[in-house]
Amino acid sequence: MEVSGRIWQVLERRNMELGPEGEPTRALTHWRYTSDDEGIVWLLLDRAGESANSISEEVLDELHTVLDDLRNLSVRGLVIRSAKKSGFAAGADLRDFRGIADAGEVEKRMRRAHEIVDRLANLAMPTVAVIHGYCLGAGFELALACRHRIAVRGASFGFPEVLLGLHPGLGGTFRLTSLIDPVEAMTMMLTGRSAHTAKAKALGIVDDVVEERHVANAVRAAIDRKLRRGGGGLKAGVLALGPARRMAASRMRTEAEKSAPKKHYPAPYRLIDLWEEHGGDARAMQKAEIRSFSQLLVSQTAQNLIRVFFLREQLKGLGKGRSGISRVHVIGAGTMGGDIAAWCAARGLSVTLTDLDPKALALAVGRASAFYAKRLHSSLDKRDALDRLMPDFEGVGVEKADLVIEAVAEKAEVKRRVYEAVVPRMKPDAILATNTSSIPLEVLREGLPFPGRFLGLHFFNPVTRMELVEIVSHEGVADDTLMRARAFCGDISRLPLPVRSAPGFLVNRALTPYLVEAFTLFDEGIPKEEIDRAARDFGMPMGPIELADRIGLDICLEVARMLKERLSDPMPDIPPWLVQKVESGATGRKAGRGLYAYDEKGRPRKEEVKVSEGAEAPRADPEMTDRLILPMLNILVRLLRENIVEDPEQADAAMIFGTGFAPFRGGPLHYARSRGIDNIVSRLRELEKRHGARFAPDEGWEGLKSSDHVPVATLP
Ligand code: NAD
Repeated sequence: MEVSGRIWQVLERRNMELGPEGEPTRALTHWRYTSDDEGIVWLLLDRAGESANSISEEVLDELHTVLDDLRNLSVRGLVIRSAKKSGFAAGADLRDFRGIADAGEVEKRMRRAHEIVDRLANLAMPTVAVIHGYCLGAGFELALACRHRIAVRGASFGFPEVLLGLHPGLGGTFRLTSLIDPVEAMTMMLTGRSAHTAKAKALGIVDDVVEERHVANAVRAAIDRKLRRGGGGLKAGVLALGPARRMAASRMRTEAEKSAPKKHYPAPYRLIDLWEEHGGDARAMQKAEIRSFSQLLVSQTAQNLIRVFFLREQLKGLGKGRSGISRVHVIGAGTMGGDIAAWCAARGLSVTLTDLDPKALALAVGRASAFYAKRLHSSLDKRDALDRLMPDFEGVGVEKADLVIEAVAEKAEVKRRVYEAVVPRMKPDAILATNTSSIPLEVLREGLPFPGRFLGLHFFNPVTRMELVEIVSHEGVADDTLMRARAFCGDISRLPLPVRSAPGFLVNRALTPYLVEAFTLFDEGIPKEEIDRAARDFGMPMGPIELADRIGLDICLEVARMLKERLSDPMPDIPPWLVQKVESGATGRKAGRGLYAYDEKGRPRKEEVKVSEGAEAPRADPEMTDRLILPMLNILVRLLRENIVEDPEQADAAMIFGTGFAPFRGGPLHYARSRGIDNIVSRLRELEKRHGARFAPDEGWEGLKSSDHVPVATLP
């Protein structure tokens, strides 16, 4: 049966820019109809002007029009799928959510969005979502509103909303918990982790998984009701009972507290409350979801995390273009070089890795193999990545490499000797990059025959987790080299941040006063656990003492010495115990001992203050927190003033993606603006009086006052 001529005429007109008389008509801009000879209408989501689909209010409004079109037409079924190569949909269009401060207004908009999605869910005709690639957030919610879901192999499903300080808001909470085992559904929503095709099928998210060429058959089977649909099963029945749900909810809260403390990240707890109170009652859950989502959306946490999302997009944008780099040669297979090589090979590049020490090479390949085993999905991917990573004791890879990355010890003379040996063997257009943490490039480029193709590519530790790479320029570097280096970061899914060469560049320069202040507090007799707790209470992923151990006390010492030598900044003296520790080999986590001792799994042995049950954990001393955090902000203001970094957004992005700076605060300078510049400056003056010139406020603070700060609500 063909979609009848009359029906097709109605639908096709929607695809066009003009009406039958050539008059402008309200054509669909983001959706497109197609039909097949089976009497089934296929509706393609194809967001205008975008490379990937996201669900905006406009997309939903047009869906409303589509549902009006279909109301009076008798068609066999409706199929929704994406016309984009990248996948079904990446989630809600966050541009609709930015800077919103009125929860009542959000609630109104969300209610309307729900009405539209409910209409889709309540259509009498069979509806099928065909999904390839990623299907996330609001895209997943749209798919859940269809009666059937058919996945093309490789598709993945998830609710990343918690990473934005939210929970699903377009029906996900009640549709997923009633479709599959509610505990599995909650776990997906609470962790933000995606389910790939096989898992999605096992969980019952999708009715069928097929190769692309079998999609039409699978759709027909679904519409003819020949596909068996999954269901929540026995567990859903048990969890419909209040007491069972309460027990499960309490376990979820304990689990959530481990990774997302409630005071900084309220969304997971809101979601658990929502399910505990209303689970099993879709109507009540829908109402509660809309209210809770609207309140979360206008909260400071969500707005700051949405800001962080856009900061990431901004840096990603800098990584567009063609790098022309397919072969990389890494020199130095230590903590950094080994991991840089492993990462590049995982992202599809051919990599040779060399070191003076064959043991270092073997260890690096072992680490890479363990990383691939954990993070790559198929055994084929694991094998291919390992094949691409070639240990190269002789260093012959340099001759074919498009990019040579040097990651040997942090000593200028060692690095220069390496350059002398490799430069004559490099291809004429190859780039030479150093991963130095702090040595100014002016020092390293001396004597290089081609300074135009030399620059800093400063990765952060651990390379596999920290997304940032500082692209360090110097006078004499060619623009083309900088562009290729940024594009290389794009190729390997890393975020490039352009900085000018200066001691410590941006991130380490800002981080050093934070670490050194922690050492000073330690010297004043404050237990290291307490210092770390103050920073974690502020929202840092780990405290400064643990971080120093993680970076390596030897590296910290070199960086601190170099900054002290080259800069006139007032800085406390380097504590003698730091030098002794490094000399005795207690260089931190990599050595199994540093400021903390480490167990065999690399976990620090801490003596945390015990809190008796029911008592509140002691609050961190605000003076200690300010002593740690404010010098970092102060230096960033100075680096902005000195044009080491282009703007406050990039400085914020650098600290979040390079150090994990409390993301829910939106970045250090955004935090300063939210707290008030005057407040920060007067606090620095107080600290200066009490503790010395290192706290003197920088003259650049005034310039930061032209704030873009959007007032946001606190959660009721
Ligand atoms: P590391 O001590 O772990 O590794 C250095 C490796 O280089 C060793 O395996 C050593 O055998 C090898 N090496 C030394 N001289 C060599 C030579 N001439 N040829 C070949 N190999 C040689 O050091 P790391 O922590 O990996 O640091 C390497 C570089 O990366 C340094 O410049 C450091 O400042 C920078 N960096 C370190 C971190 C960090 O957190 N550790 C972060 C960013 C940047």
